[in-house]
Amino acid sequence: EVEIHGVSKSFGDLKVLDDIALTFPAGSVTAIIGPSGSGKSTLLRTINHLERVDRGLIAVDGELIGYRRDGDALHELREKDILARRTEIGMVFQNFNLFPHLTVLENITEAPVTVRGLSRPEAEAQARELLARVGLEDKADAYPRQLSGGQQQRVAIARTLALRPKVLLFDEPTSALDPELVGEVLDVIKELARSGITLVIVTHEIGFAREVADSIVFMEQGRVIEAGAPDQILTRPKHPRTAAFLAKVL
Ligand code: ATP
Ligand code: MG
Repeated sequence: EVEIHGVSKSFGDLKVLDDIALTFPAGSVTAIIGPSGSGKSTLLRTINHLERVDRGLIAVDGELIGYRRDGDALHELREKDILARRTEIGMVFQNFNLFPHLTVLENITEAPVTVRGLSRPEAEAQARELLARVGLEDKADAYPRQLSGGQQQRVAIARTLALRPKVLLFDEPTSALDPELVGEVLDVIKELARSGITLVIVTHEIGFAREVADSIVFMEQGRVIEAGAPDQILTRPKHPRTAAFLAKVL
């Protein structure tokens, strides 16, 4: 479960997150939609403390992100502890971010060996299982440049899963892909949605959000304008701004 309480964040004079309050229940799938610049990526980045909040708190399974409580005081964790906590929260980016000089197998085994302390054979066995799960068992020895964008993104998902995250954050995972490659990545995410891991997906794929998400959050200018079941948000939005946004993208 992810709880976001009263989170605000500014860059200089620009308020990018304005008093955000959201809960993502364990095992749920949430899609975040909204216009460019509305704060969607920044919100995801605050959930794994890649971005510090100005106000408010975020907790995953009851544990604060980035801070430790000491009576009434909050102390920011040391970098080492932040990194450890971050392994529980996987993030998949628009541009795959694979290590170009490592094979697919090495990309996936790197963090489990260095961060989780798995032996190399254990990490490789796990990596091969994950590759099978994303339909790429035959690509273990390929380099990223030898793969299509859709395949690279599926490797990126397998790599993130190798750290056994409780929560998986996707920031527009298909928007860098050619249209014919979008489906294979969405299929992998659909399969994950059934697996019980908590997913939060920033996406422009409204049809996908309707099909897979348990709830949809609409953001604009750093605020949550409305959140609810896909059918309610997409066909009976309560807020005129939601309706205006949907009229543009649907
Ligand atoms: P998009 O759909 O285009 O990805 P978004 O909803 O993800 O947009 P964010 O990337 O969260 O939006 O950005 C929100 C606002 O914060 C934008 O106006 C952006 O220019 C600004 N912003 C984001 N990161 C920084 C930063 N590091 N420094 C200054 N401004 C930033
Ligand atoms: Mg973004």
